[in-house]
Amino acid sequence: MIDLLNKLIKDNKHYSYKGKAASYIPALKEANPNDLAIALYDLNSNKEYYAGECDKKFTIQSISKVVTLIIALMDNGKDQVFKKVNVEPTGMGFNSIVNLEVRDSVRPYNPMINAGAIVTTSLIKGKNEQDKLERVLEFIKKVTNNNDIYLNQRVYASEKETGDRNRSIAYFMKSTGILSGDVEKILDLYFKHCSIELSARDLARFGAVIANDGIIPWSKERFLSREICRIVKTIMVTCGMYDASGEFAVNVGIPAKSGVGGGILGAVPKKYGIGVYGPALDEKGNSIAGINILKDLAKTLDLSIF
Ligand code: GLN
Repeated sequence: MIDLLNKLIKDNKHYSYKGKAASYIPALKEANPNDLAIALYDLNSNKEYYAGECDKKFTIQSISKVVTLIIALMDNGKDQVFKKVNVEPTGMGFNSIVNLEVRDSVRPYNPMINAGAIVTTSLIKGKNEQDKLERVLEFIKKVTNNNDIYLNQRVYASEKETGDRNRSIAYFMKSTGILSGDVEKILDLYFKHCSIELSARDLARFGAVIANDGIIPWSKERFLSREICRIVKTIMVTCGMYDASGEFAVNVGIPAKSGVGGGILGAVPKKYGIGVYGPALDEKGNSIAGINILKDLAKTLDLSIF
């Protein structure tokens, strides 16, 4: 398996030259576009395999949308959550505003785009903002089996400073009644979630928990319900790669979620948790070498769920 992963890195590295690291904030632009990492958690053997820059930390950005969705579902149940956010693919970019006004429903299209994740963030329960953030961090520590989980303060500060588009999405949703509470506090938490740093190996372990229907594979503890894992995997398939989700389903066929930090989280039901890192992005905001490495991996190991 290690040989295969090393080969996949070698074969797909050249794609990085065709993409660009996110440039909307300085800290992301500074990432090395040639970095490429893949980690696999094998549920069958309970072993981890990895190649490339697997321990390099990067901000999870939109991958945090999977975490906020899960916690919102745990805190409120699916009926309450889906009253506020729909589960349909958009065909639009992840920070698009247009659907919020022109379509007949005021609900954001799905929890994997910014509007939807701002809503799920508002549904996380806690005594105060610090408590809500702690809950998110505790959740991530548990599913990554790693207590060294921190925010990248520099990325957080830039996200907050340059987050006017997210601010406009959020205030618009407050005006339609979908978002309630203090908009700035909700956004602050959203920016913090985006700025949490993980490595490809951390992502692979998180993916393994979802792939294993919520039972933590290294401790055998039931942590998430089967139902929540089923819902989350389904939404990852239909919406996880933004407006490239259809193409990704055809070419790869694995429930996955990307982030503009260059990470991709994958969960192959009952088989593997996957973490990929490659900061050079394509025009839709997905890791360009990351998508291609997953394409080859899925083909070689016959991983498509379809
Ligand atoms: N911080 C980014 C934003 O809110 C996250 C988006 C992403 O990873 N696609 O715009």
